Amino acid sequence: MLCIEHFIGGESRPSISAERMRVWDPARGRAYATLASGDSRDVDEAVRQARAAVGPLKQLSLAQRAQLLHRVADLLEARSEEFAQAESLDAGKPIRLCRDIEIPRAIANLRFFAAAATQFGSESYADSSAMNLVLRAPLGVVGTISPWNLPLYLLTWKIAPALAAGNAVIAKPSELTPMTASMLAPLFHAAGFPAGAFNVLHGTGARVGEAMVKHRDIKAISFTGGTETGRAIYAAAAPQFKKLSLELGGKNATVVFADTDLAAAMPTLVRSAFQNQGQICLCGSRLFIERSVFKAFREAFVEQVQRMTIGNPQLESTDQGALISAAHRDKVERHLAVAHAEGGRLLCGGDRPALDDDLREGFYLRPSVFDSLPFDCRTNQEEIFGPLATLIPFDDETEVLTMANSTPFGLAASVWTRDFARAQRMSEGLDAGLVWINSWMSRDLRAPFGGVKQSGLGREGGLEAMRFFTESKTISWPR
Ligand code: NDP
Repeated sequence: MLCIEHFIGGESRPSISAERMRVWDPARGRAYATLASGDSRDVDEAVRQARAAVGPLKQLSLAQRAQLLHRVADLLEARSEEFAQAESLDAGKPIRLCRDIEIPRAIANLRFFAAAATQFGSESYADSSAMNLVLRAPLGVVGTISPWNLPLYLLTWKIAPALAAGNAVIAKPSELTPMTASMLAPLFHAAGFPAGAFNVLHGTGARVGEAMVKHRDIKAISFTGGTETGRAIYAAAAPQFKKLSLELGGKNATVVFADTDLAAAMPTLVRSAFQNQGQICLCGSRLFIERSVFKAFREAFVEQVQRMTIGNPQLESTDQGALISAAHRDKVERHLAVAHAEGGRLLCGGDRPALDDDLREGFYLRPSVFDSLPFDCRTNQEEIFGPLATLIPFDDETEVLTMANSTPFGLAASVWTRDFARAQRMSEGLDAGLVWINSWMSRDLRAPFGGVKQSGLGREGGLEAMRFFTESKTISWPR
């Protein structure tokens, strides 16, 4: 079995307690590695090492910081196939997704923020009586806490701006997917970052995550995960007024008007509901379809969902891999039972696939589609974060906006229509931090990213991230 350790102060280390936990291969339902399981003493040690790196980090010029981040990106790129294989194994997700999207995006995150290090500036303001100069300084030691669904993609999305802005970082990946973070950490050291500039701590959120949030010398926490965890972090950080960025859950609406070219749009609509087994915060799990095309849509959608290949994530031909854990599959199955109890009509899926040989114990679930569920039932209000989508007919814009905006979430939405004025009205009316028109999940890394309502607090991406990881000081003098 592989042994995955913390990376603290430029070296691999076991936990002070020597405690370990198991890491599962979701595709086969068996443990394949053991993981150092940290506690507050490991957090203290990581903070000590990170604080020691703050001085050396300050000595680096902006160009040097950028160069170091580019070097990490080069090292990652040179081993991208190895990282893609590791991510697919650790998360049970299709290798194609790792090769084509997730690892390339992790590299892009590092390169994007390497460039941001040299492009990020600060403002000055003047009037007849005074000049005001705004300085932006790194915070010191910052923490990042990330989830299991897009492990390296989301981790690099946080650590790259934190380091580009000049901070030392302590990153806690999900205990369910620790592998690629562990493989990445030594690359920072090899690239020439000072020891302690980038540390990875493993273990549960309840122990390591909470200790990070409460640690007085960790000046900010950038968190991505569930809404309830976000609420706990918000409360734990409040006594210190700690700087927080919270990217939380979603229950995203996909709104399809009758003028959409359904044949052309269908592959993206299916992907938007089920990519990564529906375990993407941006997946559109509630599909609102204009009533005049509802039946035709339903037929074509279900037909394409049923054609998806489910099975070994390591095969290039696989569309759907395993869910992240047995516990998560149980949770999605409880939601399936709720959908049935609420009167939903199951159109496809709803059960575990019969797979051969060593995949038999894997955490698979066939993609499920329901209709005949009211928009305000539990199935259509709660985040499920799995392969379960619902189809809901609508008659007009007002009605669909009411239904789409009815959840406590507001992360993303997509609108499908050829009518530009309608697309504009809808994008203004939808409660969401991000609205795609006739597309899904296209991202410009310069654009702010984040949700409204209970989907989050603050924005990531571009200058927003650089601002989050720095503190401003205004210096004023008379003219
Ligand atoms: P969780 O909220 O369960 O966990 C996220 C991270 O927080 C993990 O590293 C976890 O550790 C840690 N954690 C758990 N409890 C605490 C705590 N009390 N204090 C500090 N840290 C803690 O989310 P999941 O990992 O299950 O991820 C799925 C969720 O993430 C979904 O709700 C999804 O919508 C959301 N998400 C949001 C995105 C966005 O951009 N808005 C993007 C991707 C996902 P551990 O698991 O190791 O115990």
